[in-house]
Amino acid sequence: MAFKSDIEIARAANKKPIQQIGDGLGIPSEHLLPYGHDKAKVGQEFIDSVQERPNGKLILVTAVNPTPAGEGKTTTTVGLGDGLNAIGKKAMICIREASLGPNFGMKGGAAGGGRAQVVPMEEMNLHFTGDFHAITSAHSLLSAMIDNHIYWGNEQEIDLRRVQWRRVVDMNDRALRQVTLSLGGVANGFPREGGFDITVASEVMAILCLARNLKDLEERLGAMIVAYRRDRSPVYCRDIKAEGAMTVLLKDAMQPNLVQTLENNPAFVHGGPFANIAHGCNSVIATTTALKLADYVVTEAGFGADLGAEKFMNIKCRKAGLAPSAVVVVATVRAMKMNGGVAKTDLGAENVEAVTKGCANLGRHIENVKSFGVPVVVAVNHFVTDTDAEVAAIRDYVSGHGAEAVVSRHWELGSEGSTELARKVAALADADSASFAPIYPDEMPLFEKIETIAKRIYRADEVLADQKIRDQLRLWEEQGYGDLPVCMAKTQYSFTTDPTRRGAPTGFGVPVREVRLSAGAGFIVVVCGEIMTMPGLPKVPAAETIRLNEEGLIEGLF
Ligand code: ADP
Ligand code: MG
Repeated sequence: MAFKSDIEIARAANKKPIQQIGDGLGIPSEHLLPYGHDKAKVGQEFIDSVQERPNGKLILVTAVNPTPAGEGKTTTTVGLGDGLNAIGKKAMICIREASLGPNFGMKGGAAGGGRAQVVPMEEMNLHFTGDFHAITSAHSLLSAMIDNHIYWGNEQEIDLRRVQWRRVVDMNDRALRQVTLSLGGVANGFPREGGFDITVASEVMAILCLARNLKDLEERLGAMIVAYRRDRSPVYCRDIKAEGAMTVLLKDAMQPNLVQTLENNPAFVHGGPFANIAHGCNSVIATTTALKLADYVVTEAGFGADLGAEKFMNIKCRKAGLAPSAVVVVATVRAMKMNGGVAKTDLGAENVEAVTKGCANLGRHIENVKSFGVPVVVAVNHFVTDTDAEVAAIRDYVSGHGAEAVVSRHWELGSEGSTELARKVAALADADSASFAPIYPDEMPLFEKIETIAKRIYRADEVLADQKIRDQLRLWEEQGYGDLPVCMAKTQYSFTTDPTRRGAPTGFGVPVREVRLSAGAGFIVVVCGEIMTMPGLPKVPAAETIRLNEEGLIEGLF
């Protein structure tokens, strides 16, 4: 049987006017700011007006350590949201916006797939409502103001060798990773080294996604460290007096974007921080608002549960006062095979033994999520190529490990394929059995926080770090940053820092290469291994075949 491409399915969607979707959530039309016919932002006044309402139940979708193709967290988030609505629950979903640059590298969007997508998917993957452009602009304003400050006398005594603030652009452009600024003579300032990251790696992005409101946003922007002086004292964004104007540029970007699924159910698509050097979930303002508007809110965290769910719990939930009622761990037959040692090229062939072996990876994620006090259900995101024996192997393994696995066919069938999962998740959330708590307290020393995650989540024997790194952490503790959570940056493919060590490895250490303070976002980034903040394009970028056809429709995107 031939299946339609994601973009073909999305294009054929029977969309409702966005006012109607807002209506279903009880958002009066004067508080819905339409961006065209099928997207709208939700006004701040309305958001303020619902604060006293009780919260719905929060459901996190996370996954096993994935294959490079992705295991379908977004697709399952959308499918589960539609499934909950199909069984008569009032549910909405919250996912991240897409970074524009990577679409032109490899195919693969951020709007879900098959019959479980949010629409308009082309726009969501491109300019959408302009939020990321606003973030690029706000970030760039600060970049410009820093060099301008230096140019006009450098009153803050910024050490030109210690400017931390880089530049950003939402494009995969490896040529910009390291550049020399201010060449060309006196009028152009003082030459120094600089570089570009992709927009989603900006601290402004992380802040937008963690800020509770515009005032909080402005304060956090002001608290960002942009440079150091010769005596190593920090220069903050507020010393450059940029945070007010940056907030002006971000005013609209702070408001959640309302769109719909293929089945006309509401979805907030808002914010998109990196899942390595940042926390990798949609905005706090979207999630907290959704919890006031729906009885069930399904949301996603980037990468596997060792990174995504850990940061969702320890950073986002801790900071925003959220408590998930249930967690869905997405597993696929192909990911289990890969974790069981099968090469990427052999994933197509049936291999029950490898599936069972790879389930050790799933088992560890189940245990880990439960250690936050939240009940788990496993969703087997069904691929049409999966065999019954392979699926049964996952089911058997999971039932022997204190959880239940439900096969879900939302990619193929939409909500019709996900009602069983929806019933199970709703029952689990309604049972109120969760007693959520982050796995370390605020006051734990920073190095111990890293050790707690490495030992309890990754199951490492030890954390390896030079004296220089330990001293840096201690210095930050003395400067008052000791109560911040840590944001781990490591490979998503393994519990270890080595992407080739699949399954459930033991007997390893976690080497910390570098630590960075994101003082505005409010976390310490712990870099373990190579982390790329400016991707490049592949040899044959998708951009070569993306074009508008005779009818003006986009071709080649997905
Ligand atoms: P993640 O959010 O975990 O990165 P996505 O939901 O974005 O993963 O899915 C990654 C890709 O896999 C998408 O292109 C999607 O269309 C595809 N996909 C997801 N689930 C299935 C499935 N059950 N069958 C076939 N393709 C799928
Ligand atoms: Mg995703």
